Amino acid sequence: MPMIRDPAKFYCSICTRRTKGFKTRSGLQRHETLKHISYNKLPSHIQQISNSELSHLKSAIIKELQKRLKNNYTAVGEQTFSLHCSENAFVGVFKDHITRYSPCGSFYFCSFKGENAFDEIGQILDDEKWGERNYGKGQLSFVRLYVPENGDDNHKQKTKMKLSANGEMTVKWQMTGGKDKENHKFEAGSVQFRFFLDQCQI
Ligand SMILES: [Zn+2]
Repeated sequence: MPMIRDPAKFYCSICTRRTKGFKTRSGLQRHETLKHISYNKLPSHIQQISNSELSHLKSAIIKELQKRLKNNYTAVGEQTFSLHCSENAFVGVFKDHITRYSPCGSFYFCSFKGENAFDEIGQILDDEKWGERNYGKGQLSFVRLYVPENGDDNHKQKTKMKLSANGEMTVKWQMTGGKDKENHKFEAGSVQFRFFLDQCQI
């Protein structure tokens, strides 16, 4: 029997657990977050982007990131930056590494952490030094994605509360912008990076 859908309601496109639908979009969004946090099947509307466009996006990401790998010790800590990119371009670059796709919120999320994460991102961005910047005399600023178990416990303790302090980079794509009182929308796709900047002497 086909399901009768109320056009005023919001339905989950991933499962049929809640056949009566949700009254609000935020209700559906909550359901997605609770039940489908690991859903990462890519939507069918994605179109292929040329390799030269993808290379440009990769370079733009590295450029913006390198600008934030500062040498001053006050820069150590959580860093964020965003840049505009289309949904197709974002998926083109990160497709195999997307940990969550939300059909309701139209956003994508990736999380990179652990011993191999630095190399993994290097392969995605075609640059093995994407996340480190050498200031000479052995001074290195870098994106921390991994803290060895028996590493610097004191340092770990101090930064325990921070999201990515124990080594993580998150990447989220979504539409950002707004609309005016006449419902004129002004929005564009944007990808936001969050990471933890660390420094060391090599
Ligand atoms: Zn569902």
